[in-house]
Amino acid sequence: MYRTNTCRELTAKDEGKTVTLSGWVHRRRDHGGLIFIDLRDRYGLTQVVFDPKFNKESHATAEDVRPEYVLKVTGEVRKRIEGQANPNMKTGEIEIYINEIEILNESKTPPFEIDQEKDVNEELRLKYRYLDLRHDRMRNNIILRHKMIKEIRDFMDKEGFLEIETPILIKGTPEGSREYLVPSRLYPGKFFVLPQSPQQLKQMLMIAGFDKYFQIARCFRDEDQRGDRQPEFTQLDMEMSFVEEKDVMKVNEDLLIDLTKKFAPDKKIMKTPFPVMSYREAMDTYGSDKPDIRFELPIVDISDIVKNSKFGVFKNAVINNGVVKALLVNNIADWPRGDLDKLEELAKIHGAKGLAYFVYKEGEIKSPITKFLSEKEIDEITKKTGAKTGDIVFFSADEYVTACESLGQVRLECGRKLDLIDENVFAYLWINEFSMFEKKKDGQIDTVHHPFTRPSDEDKKLLESKPEDAKAIAYDIVLNGCEIGGGSIRIHEQSLQQKIFDILKITPEDAEMRFGHMLEAFSYGAPPHGGIAWGLDRLVMLFAGEPNIREVIAFPKDQKAKDLTLGAPSVIPKKDVAEANVKIINTN
Ligand code: ASP
Repeated sequence: MYRTNTCRELTAKDEGKTVTLSGWVHRRRDHGGLIFIDLRDRYGLTQVVFDPKFNKESHATAEDVRPEYVLKVTGEVRKRIEGQANPNMKTGEIEIYINEIEILNESKTPPFEIDQEKDVNEELRLKYRYLDLRHDRMRNNIILRHKMIKEIRDFMDKEGFLEIETPILIKGTPEGSREYLVPSRLYPGKFFVLPQSPQQLKQMLMIAGFDKYFQIARCFRDEDQRGDRQPEFTQLDMEMSFVEEKDVMKVNEDLLIDLTKKFAPDKKIMKTPFPVMSYREAMDTYGSDKPDIRFELPIVDISDIVKNSKFGVFKNAVINNGVVKALLVNNIADWPRGDLDKLEELAKIHGAKGLAYFVYKEGEIKSPITKFLSEKEIDEITKKTGAKTGDIVFFSADEYVTACESLGQVRLECGRKLDLIDENVFAYLWINEFSMFEKKKDGQIDTVHHPFTRPSDEDKKLLESKPEDAKAIAYDIVLNGCEIGGGSIRIHEQSLQQKIFDILKITPEDAEMRFGHMLEAFSYGAPPHGGIAWGLDRLVMLFAGEPNIREVIAFPKDQKAKDLTLGAPSVIPKKDVAEANVKIINTN
C-alpha cells in the first residue's frame, strides 16, 4: 500500500496514528540532526520528521534525499510542540515521525524551483510543463478549470441540454480562419479539415430535433499567432431551437451568474440583468466592441462642431465619411509630456495618424491645434466634453472604426493609469445589433459573424438594396473588456440562406460544393434556432485572474504555435508522408 492518507488530510485529531504517505520532496531542511521534509502531493503538504533517536536508518536514508524525489514514508502522527504549529497549512498542527522510508524514485535537479515560483522564461516552463504544473498556482488553475467545466455540465443538464459530441475530422466550416488540413490516406487528393467550431453540426442537431445541445468542444484555427490566441482552444458551444435572442441571453446569463457565485464569490457582478448595448453605442461611447464598463470616461462625437472647420485634419475626416471623436479625462493636465507621448504611440498602434489634445491649464488651453480652430469651435468642444481647468481632452479624426478604437485604447490606458478600474467587480454585458456584412480591405464583402447568421426582420429588405446596412441578430458576451463569447440567431430557410451566399458572391456551384449539405438540410423542416459559443479558456483565465490563456491550459502551444513539451510539429518518416499522399514542396 502506498498511502493511508493524502498530504492534506491529517490534523491534531489523528494524533498517535500510524500512517503512510507518498509524495514529492517539496522542501528539505536539516536542523542539526533532525531532518524535516515537506512532503507534497496534489492535495497539499505534510511535514515529516526524521529523528536519529526515533529511527536511525530512516534518518540516514533521508540524508540522501533531494528536492522532487518521490518517497513513501510511514510513521507516527504527533502534535507539533507549542509555538511550532503553522496556521497557514491545513496539516500545520501535526508532523509525522518517520520510522520507514522508501525512495520510490529519484529526481534530477529541476530546471527551475518548484517549491516557490520565480520568474522563469516561458519556453523553459513549456518544455518542462509537467514540472511547471507542479507549481501551486498552476495546479490550482487546472483544478479550477475542472470544477468550472463540471459546474457547466451540471447546469446545462439541469436546464435540459444534451451533451453531444461532434466529429473532429470534418469538412470545413466557415468561421473566417484558415483551417488545419488532414490528408486522407484512403482517398488520395482529398482532405478532412479540423473544425473551427461545430457550427454546422450543431445546426444539424437542431434539424434532427434535439432542441437543446451543448458541448465542451475543441476548436482549431490555423492562424498566424497574434495576441492571446491558441491554434486549438476550447469552447462551451450551445444551440437551442425555437428561441429568440433574449432566450439565449437568459440561459447564458443564469449560467455566468452561477459560475461567478461559485468560483469568484469575492467579485461583485456590476449589474443584473446584464446590460445590453448595441455595437454602435459601444463603439461610440467606449471606442470598443468589447468595452470595459467598470469605469466611465465616455467618448463624445464632435464631428458636427468641426465639420466646416479650417483645421483640415478634422474637416477632411468628416468630408471623407469619417468622424471626429473627443475624450475628456479629468485632472491630468500635469501629466508629463512623456506620458502623453506614450498615449500617442498607443493610438498610432491602433491605426491613428496621431493624437491631438487640449490641455486646460492656468486658465487657458495649451495645444498646438487651437490656432487652427475658431473660438466658437473651441467653446463648443469645451461645452460638449465638459472640460475645465486641470483636464485634458484627446481627439481622434479618422474613418469610424479607427477613430473610435484608437481613442478607446487611450481611454483604457487612462483608466488603468488613474486606477479607475475596480478589480473586485465583474462587469458583464451583451453587445448586439452587429452588422451582417463588412467590406474587407480588398473590397470583398464578408460576414461579420458567419454566413448562417440571421438578418434582423426589419433589415431583410435591405439585403436586396443595401446589404452593408443590414443588421444581424448576433450578440457577444463581454466580461471586463474581454469578449468571452459570441453567437447569433440563425437562418433556417433555404431561400434566405441562398440569398446570403449570393450577397457573399459565393457561386451556386461553390455554395453547392461547400455548403450543399446545409442547404439540403434546411429543406427538411429546419426549426428556428440560435446559439452561442464561449471561449472557455478565456473565461477560466479571467476567473483565475491570470494574464493569458496559456496559464489555464495544461499543455498549450507557445506563441509561435509550437508544442514545446512534445516537440511538435515534427518531421515524419518519408514513408508515412508518402502513405498520406502528401508531397513536401517546401521545408522552410
Ligand atoms: N460558431 C461560432 C463561433 O465559433 C459561435 C456561434 O455562432 O454559436 O464563433
